[in-house]
Amino acid sequence: MTKREQNRRYRSKYPEKVRELIKRSYFKNREKRLKNKKEHYKNNKEKYSMWSRLNYLRKKGIIKLNKCEECGTEKQLVMHHEDYKKQFNIKVLCRSCHNKLHKLLN
Ligand SMILES: [Zn+2]
Ligand SMILES: [Zn+2]
Repeated sequence: MTKREQNRRYRSKYPEKVRELIKRSYFKNREKRLKNKKEHYKNNKEKYSMWSRLNYLRKKGIIKLNKCEECGTEKQLVMHHEDYKKQFNIKVLCRSCHNKLHKLLN
């Protein structure tokens, strides 16, 4: 008998038990997932709050992304931060220039 068959047999024999096990592991992992998420958020709190502020300003039309400062394209623009502590020290770049810059930085 293969392991798979064993599992199937076990499942049909004790459906309640299996359900309970699945539920338990789901909640266990859920707690872990939530904890990781929280930790990640905590570590990047500054970044997140700044991003949401910038997005807000963008929506309001206060910040405009017109074109890439490097190559001048108007497509797929992103905001790059020179320094996360200086909120509005941003550079408008297209995705490919942005990637290039980060490769240079890393
Ligand atoms: Zn560009
Ligand atoms: Zn960047």
